[in-house]
Amino acid sequence: SKVPPIILNNGVEMPQLGFGVWQVPDDEAETAVATALEAGYRSIDTAAIYGNEEGTGKAIAGSGVPREELFVTTKLWNADQGYDATLRAFDTSLEKLGLDYVDLYLIHWPTPERGLYVDTYKAFEKLHADGRIRAIGVSNFLPEHLRKLIGETSVVPAVNQIELHPHLQQGASRAYHAEQGIATEAWSPLGQGKGLLEVPAIVAIARKHERTPAQVVLRWHIQLGNVVIPKSVTPSRIKENIEVFDFSLDDEDLAAISALNEDRRIGPDPAEFNGA
Ligand code: NAD
Repeated sequence: SKVPPIILNNGVEMPQLGFGVWQVPDDEAETAVATALEAGYRSIDTAAIYGNEEGTGKAIAGSGVPREELFVTTKLWNADQGYDATLRAFDTSLEKLGLDYVDLYLIHWPTPERGLYVDTYKAFEKLHADGRIRAIGVSNFLPEHLRKLIGETSVVPAVNQIELHPHLQQGASRAYHAEQGIATEAWSPLGQGKGLLEVPAIVAIARKHERTPAQVVLRWHIQLGNVVIPKSVTPSRIKENIEVFDFSLDDEDLAAISALNEDRRIGPDPAEFNGA
């Protein structure tokens, strides 16, 4: 494959770049995921709440790519937290995907007010021990949530998937993850495309390398060691976003992008978000 793997803390290999399908309607997900698989993506990031696990599963089934060459991630939604509810929600996700295991299962948000993420994670540990999930992890966990989780459970999360892009570089989380052996996965790696891809410093670096601003931002993530899951439904962009392994940014480029940090979130603050 075009995409090199990173090795998770349990030895499982995860492609460093995958395809995200948030906001892709179920009936368009099959085409979008099929286009991504055709372009060489082997990792797909979905979630129960995205409502497109069925479309994603159809694309996988129709692709002809052997299951063991794919890395499929889905996420447990907030309303399904709790030990028993998690076991049921996992069965539903697997059924919709048409799979008999997933590669990575994530707690979508900590929703600390619920007080259920430790119980939820214990169900993840059981599913992992039963061989139905190759690696277990979390999403949107702050270091304080990870500290509590690690203190009360036995499997250190393999991954924390967090909002991360040049305007929100997440230094404290990245340092804590590195210390604990947790891989950092960036959601909205392109900052959802909006203003970020027009920032003059990024446009200038793109010109210098004869690449696009999206490729420069994705390459910055790759060189930092982040896992990225850019989303697009446009075939030319889907192809463009995976073509980031045949050039390198130099130290000056990396420094110029790192200077763009504003600690500015697009999404909710995980300490407060308790979305139903
Ligand atoms: P993103 O940063 O991947 O940006 C996607 C948008 O950027 C596209 O809709 C398009 O408008 C634009 N874009 C994409 N490629 C482009 C290109 N080559 N040139 C110009 N514009 C381009 O944003 P995202 O979809 O929010 O995040 C990616 C994935 O992360 C999601 O699909 C989902 O899988 C995951 N995610 C997870 C969470 C979470 O809570 N765990 C939250 C949000 C997203």
